Amino acid sequence: MKVENIVLLFFFSLIIMSCSSGEKTVKLNEFGYESVAYPYYELPPELKDNTLYSKKISDNYSYMNSLKIFLDPGHGGTDRKNTSRDKTVVEADINLNVAMHLEKFLEDSGAEVIFSRVNDDTVSLEERVRLANNSGADLFISIHHNATADSANYWTNYTSTFYHSMPWNYGYEPYEHQIAKYVQRDLAYAMRNPGSLASFDGTMSDFLINRDNGFYVLKYTLIPSILVECSFFTNRLEETRLSIDEFNKVEAWGIYSGLAKFFSENIPEIYFVGDESLLSDDTLKLVFTVNDIYPFNRSGLKIYYNMMETQFEYVEPENKIELILQEPAAGEHEVKIIYENDQNIFSKPFIRKIVIN
Ligand SMILES: [Zn+2]
Repeated sequence: MKVENIVLLFFFSLIIMSCSSGEKTVKLNEFGYESVAYPYYELPPELKDNTLYSKKISDNYSYMNSLKIFLDPGHGGTDRKNTSRDKTVVEADINLNVAMHLEKFLEDSGAEVIFSRVNDDTVSLEERVRLANNSGADLFISIHHNATADSANYWTNYTSTFYHSMPWNYGYEPYEHQIAKYVQRDLAYAMRNPGSLASFDGTMSDFLINRDNGFYVLKYTLIPSILVECSFFTNRLEETRLSIDEFNKVEAWGIYSGLAKFFSENIPEIYFVGDESLLSDDTLKLVFTVNDIYPFNRSGLKIYYNMMETQFEYVEPENKIELILQEPAAGEHEVKIIYENDQNIFSKPFIRKIVIN
């Protein structure tokens, strides 16, 4: 072999080495876009282009900036037993990582963010609920990743978003179910995952997991609450994606997008106007009003008095809802009002205790 050939050979082997271990080279296919190999995920345009990101954030600012959002990354501290099959993914860590990325998007949009934990700390379910109930937040979001009960099952993977209770129960809040739908759709889309097959839209009642009780953090939080199970870390392909920080950011963007779309809706609100405690014959009249940009939708209003659906009067010119109680017993009573406007948007949960002496 001639000397020039040896030099040439050395030169070629250098090129080959640099291709295999050097910087990632982008190969465009015949259609002009990048060929991909697994682990596959799609970066949302806003995470590729700062101008698009800034535009989206400023578009969302006006309805996000007054919000306070409580983020609850599941598990952590002594609770680190949930891991992927190859042990590269610890659920507690990816829950926290997704929450941290979500915090950035929310704070850029002007929202205030509160956490149940920001480190690998042990926080009991009771403590998470206590922190949430003292936070004055508009929404509690618990962030989790899922596992199959059968350890041999490595194929199941989907996104699901949980709300508390079942539609026919008093503890059910359609407002929470509605937020779950918005978050579920955009989270599943961002991750390119199907939704859970337990429902048509991928949202699930926590009663499907714990019958008649649901999840502790959804049952006992007094503020609106949802829980996301972003995907299955027990899935043999998903475990690879979940261990990539940029993919956790994609997950956070999915949750953020769903929230932003939801809060851009005109959400009706119920207010207590007052009581006219003394009508004749020990009759008490309680007066409420609906704040909404759309005309009043009578069939969308339900009032519960001590957990029983009850009749009411609507005084149209004054937009007043009147609840008349005949000879109410002394003690504490509860009024709950649910309102769905003619755009099918539900009011924020409204529950008020009335004390009669
Ligand atoms: Zn979990």
